[in-house]
Amino acid sequence: MSRTSGSPERAALHAFIDRHQRFLLTTHVNPDGDAIGSEVAFAHWLRAAGKAVRILNDSPTPKAFAWLADEGPIELYSEPLAETRFAEADAFVVIDTGNKQRIGRLADHIARHAIAVAIVDHHVTHEGFGQVNVIEPESAAAAVLVYELMREAGVAIDPISAMALYVGLATDTGNFRYSNTDARALRMAADLVELGVDVSEVMSRVHQSAPPGRLRFFGEALAALEMRHGGQLVVIEATPEQFQRHGLSGADTEGLVDLPRAIEGVEAVALFSEVEPGRVKVSLRSTGRVNIDGVCARLGGGGHPHAAGVMLRGTREQARARVLPELERLLAELPAAGGATLRSARGADA
Ligand code: 5GP
Ligand code: MN
Repeated sequence: MSRTSGSPERAALHAFIDRHQRFLLTTHVNPDGDAIGSEVAFAHWLRAAGKAVRILNDSPTPKAFAWLADEGPIELYSEPLAETRFAEADAFVVIDTGNKQRIGRLADHIARHAIAVAIVDHHVTHEGFGQVNVIEPESAAAAVLVYELMREAGVAIDPISAMALYVGLATDTGNFRYSNTDARALRMAADLVELGVDVSEVMSRVHQSAPPGRLRFFGEALAALEMRHGGQLVVIEATPEQFQRHGLSGADTEGLVDLPRAIEGVEAVALFSEVEPGRVKVSLRSTGRVNIDGVCARLGGGGHPHAAGVMLRGTREQARARVLPELERLLAELPAAGGATLRSARGADA
């Protein structure tokens, strides 16, 4: 097959696909649009190349993205199912995931099987735990990498793959608003529209699937938001009681931490979400001037310069004590905000 390869690691991934036959794909716990969209497109690519493919995730697929899996199921972890899937497969591909722990319970199965591992990811903090590691943090989404790899392989991008890749790209860039939105991302979006993606149809499927309890919960959490550090830092919390009362899971906070970015003068947002007593999911966001991934990486998590997270044991109060002083230190180092600039004048961005 004729192909072009962007890098030695990408060439190694193409060779990895050529020399294996039975693939198991996975992504991180609480998968988002990029995780699911990238898995679905990758699976279509492999099937088109004549490979056997299974997708197995630690967490359920959110309803907003479940429609993408119509043509091949995304299976949910159970110990016996994972044993079967790992035993059947000769290759394991981990997509959109910065470290082994983030694939959840599947991580325990890797060592028990003679299985080759490849990584396709765009996180800055990364262990690179595969034999082949395509890790390109400058890519706006994992979907960008999957799209480019499919182009390099010369496979046709069918309608479901095009929609899946669009979902990954649009969700990871906040609908082309965040600082990772670059010319490459916008060109890819244009290509996908030319391939037939109906943007309005796809986005309604993704953004019009919430249960009412989710908005009531957002309302409560936002009504209680705290402004700190002279209005530059927003803190929000979610309690186990709120998850229970509204019938929600940890995945239902998706999007909440992004909303306070709308407040004028805000530089960073921190969400402390206590999914179950004693387990606090911290989500941090930056509106662009501070890089917050280091704060999460030092606590064992990670992510991107302007969107990162970590799961901490203990109370919300303890989590706040570990995160907020660090964030406030970063904010204290910021120069006064200037006017609008062009990216080229601002230098390298995330
Ligand atoms: P979110 O706050 O939406 O869960 O995650 C924001 C970003 O941080 C995502 O890119 C996600 O992959 C990363 N992230 C979130 N939680 C964790 C975590 O516990 N560990 C690591 N390494 N990355 C995380
Ligand atoms: Mn991603």
